Amino acid sequence: DTWSRPVRTLRVKMVLLGSSGVGKSSLALRFGKDEFRTASPTVGCAYLTRVVHLSDVTLRFEIWDTAGQEKYHSVTPLYYRGAHAALLVYDLCKRETFIRAQVWLKELEKHYIPGSTVIWLVGNKGDLAQDRQVSVQEGQALANDRGLSFTETSALSGDQVSELLQAIAHRVYECIG
Ligand code: GDP
Ligand code: MG
Repeated sequence: DTWSRPVRTLRVKMVLLGSSGVGKSSLALRFGKDEFRTASPTVGCAYLTRVVHLSDVTLRFEIWDTAGQEKYHSVTPLYYRGAHAALLVYDLCKRETFIRAQVWLKELEKHYIPGSTVIWLVGNKGDLAQDRQVSVQEGQALANDRGLSFTETSALSGDQVSELLQAIAHRVYECIG
């Protein structure tokens, strides 16, 4: 019967890309520990882990943070090599981070094999939507144009963060399961 069937565990490497200050480390901390910290949340270790259970598989996410390399406008390809999921994060209150996300996307597209990496566009700081400089429609349009998925989140309130991880888990499983 289904209850005695052993559940497979798959390792999933997920990376966060985007301009400095958009909330990558804060999102990583939410995904990994469901915490928010105001002071320098840059994740100290290589990655945080989070286990997500789907109906017939367990995904063990390794959530990688850039440790601030993006300040120098380059992230070593080693960082995203072998990634099953890449989150392209911008701050929806800062238009230049949305423009910059498109540059990161080009960089990413040079290195990934289409179909093998789930790329998700993430507009973060949804709690500050009254100050937004990028509309939901613009985010969605970019995602549609480039074949990405799209979500707005708030690492601060936690809004849409666990929903996003679940959605990524399903898409990754479709790709690599
Ligand atoms: P990173 O440079 O991309 O890793 O960004 P951080 O995670 O270090 O966040 C940069 C700043 O934005 C910090 O002061 C965070 O507290 C703040 N921050 C991150 N996520 C959110 C969010 O969803 N809403 C708000 N209001 N602030 C956030
Ligand atoms: Mg950081």
